[in-house]
Amino acid sequence: MKYVTPEQMQVIQVQDPGKHSRLDWRSVQVPTPAAGELLLKVHACGINRADLMQRQGLYPAPAGDSEILGLEAAGTVVAVGDESLDSYLGQRCFGLVNGGGYAEYVLLPATQAMQVPQGWSMAQAAATAETFLTAYQLLFTIGQASAGQRVLIHAGASGVGTSAIQLAKAKGLQVAVTVGSADKVAACLMLGADLAINYRQQHFLDELKLVWPEGINLILDPVAGSYIADDIQLLAQDGKIVVYAMMGGRKLAELDLALLFRKRGQLICSTLRNRDAQYKARLTADFQQDFATALAAANIMPVIQQVFAANDIEAAHTLLSTNQTIGKLVLIFSH
Ligand code: NAP
Repeated sequence: MKYVTPEQMQVIQVQDPGKHSRLDWRSVQVPTPAAGELLLKVHACGINRADLMQRQGLYPAPAGDSEILGLEAAGTVVAVGDESLDSYLGQRCFGLVNGGGYAEYVLLPATQAMQVPQGWSMAQAAATAETFLTAYQLLFTIGQASAGQRVLIHAGASGVGTSAIQLAKAKGLQVAVTVGSADKVAACLMLGADLAINYRQQHFLDELKLVWPEGINLILDPVAGSYIADDIQLLAQDGKIVVYAMMGGRKLAELDLALLFRKRGQLICSTLRNRDAQYKARLTADFQQDFATALAAANIMPVIQQVFAANDIEAAHTLLSTNQTIGKLVLIFSH
């Protein structure tokens, strides 16, 4: 199959990075895939909180990555960087990209490419890589969680949270979440969470001490700040707290390590974006090995709150920043 790709493409470009940044369309050259890379004609890309931070100048792309926003995309492979990848031509693929998803075309390393499951829309595929691979990494690669263990997922209705609930339940974990509204409680229970606590109405520390007095084996925490001291109190012996964002603050008022010490607890910080290609390839392969069948059967799927046309990107970013979303927002490109 031979595809003709144009020389130029439209991308969404950040103007004036900072507090008053704007997003505009701009014409740039279509990238040429190097050996090991696929060129994807983008049908949809996932929107992530990291994009909001990047446009504010707070989260620059790692060296060598595209400066264009967009950490994940789904589309059709229209060119490949070497002959060994010819079988990808024409396939519907999705995966983590090294920036550049907010564009008509994007480079996707073949080792990070997954096939769009039969019956899935491009929007669904585009909403899957970033949050499910993050959740998989936190729960299993780093958290080493196993069936029967208790896991607490803060921000349970977030993109990562809704993915983590599904993966954790599929592997037989007991799942509690914290969320900020009644709608989010209902959504997390629908996804299979055993317990959902609205932190605006109940203190999660008090509630979880009662429900799980034996302690929690793994806590996934994108809030940090004042949550860390409570996390430590809730931890089971040899438990792990994995911090993967600092939405509630980067500083801890006072942290007494003695309790963490007694529990032999681990406080781990994790990132995904700045991992090397080998790590991302391994993560993608491990995730597929464990969950490709569940994805194909649609037993595990991204929760999508809303799909936006690419021209409406500002509205999508505004909505994400309100903290009212459940699951993911997705951008659709019409060519
Ligand atoms: P999301 O879908 O945008 O959801 C974020 C939710 O977190 C909000 O809707 C809100 O829900 C809750 N929240 C926000 N600020 C809070 C605060 N101060 N205290 C308590 N809850 C708060 O988020 P996401 O895409 O899942 O990402 C979550 C975070 O992880 C982001 O900061 C993102 O950049 C980061 N991330 C990190 C990695 C990594 O590898 N380290 C990977 C992916 C994402 P409630 O109404 O429930 O409070």
